[in-house]
Amino acid sequence: MLVSAKEMLNKAKAGKYAVGQFNINNLEWTKAILLTAQELNSPVILGVSEGAGKYMCGYKTVVGMVNGMIEELGITVPVALHLDHGSYEGAKKCIEAGFSSVMFDGSHYPIEENVAKTKELVETCNKLGLSLEAEVGAIGGEEDGVIGGGEVADPKECKMIADLGVTMLAAGIGNIHGKYPENWAGLSFDTLADISALTGDMPLVLHGGTGIPADMIKKAISLGVSKINVNTECQLSFAAATRKYVEEGKDLQGKGFDPRKLLAPGFEAIKETVKEKMELFGSIGKA
Ligand SMILES: [Zn+2]
Repeated sequence: MLVSAKEMLNKAKAGKYAVGQFNINNLEWTKAILLTAQELNSPVILGVSEGAGKYMCGYKTVVGMVNGMIEELGITVPVALHLDHGSYEGAKKCIEAGFSSVMFDGSHYPIEENVAKTKELVETCNKLGLSLEAEVGAIGGEEDGVIGGGEVADPKECKMIADLGVTMLAAGIGNIHGKYPENWAGLSFDTLADISALTGDMPLVLHGGTGIPADMIKKAISLGVSKINVNTECQLSFAAATRKYVEEGKDLQGKGFDPRKLLAPGFEAIKETVKEKMELFGSIGKA
């Protein structure tokens, strides 16, 4: 059964580790992430961007697939199904479709409008027992057509949004979606420390987890980050493993063209990436 991300993240914040949000794109992705979480006894958050939701034939299809898999695979660790970077309308649609968690990304609105819209969704989510992520200070890079400027959030604005009663808060601290550029300045830990001091127990979310060095991830967790989003890294490892299979001509040997064989190395590669991240984040054995 799907659960809200609230309890797992409050536990993570108190225990000084982070729960990974791994974005899904199809059945192989979802199965790889769920099985790895179960094998490692780790809580997990499945992220779905609006673009990926559309690709998977809509939110209802996603909910059906994930719920079916949890039952048929015997998944007993806590699993949250979460809308990633949702619009206001997208958040409402996911709530209707049966997601257990949503992100409303109002970071591109003036702060007053972000506050007003977030506040309305807090009420809805509280009523239904769902978790809600809000964002302050756009995150750099591009994710499914949503382009962020890589801002550093204003800690006072973070406090304003946290006080509305959201479950978790994403704040831009120089992090970027996708691959990091050579000249990246790194995370702004001073900003993170200020946000953490002002928002107290609020679990903080680090987006753009791909390519942030391990020591920076650990430091961010020590400063209050309890949810880390991973998307690009699974895509890169899936693509590399699939490329290797084809380049070695394995699809031309025997029944190597069978999708269950063709997609198997990519599936295993996602499992490996998820495992590495769960080890780094410290969520293993915390289900
Ligand atoms: Zn993000």
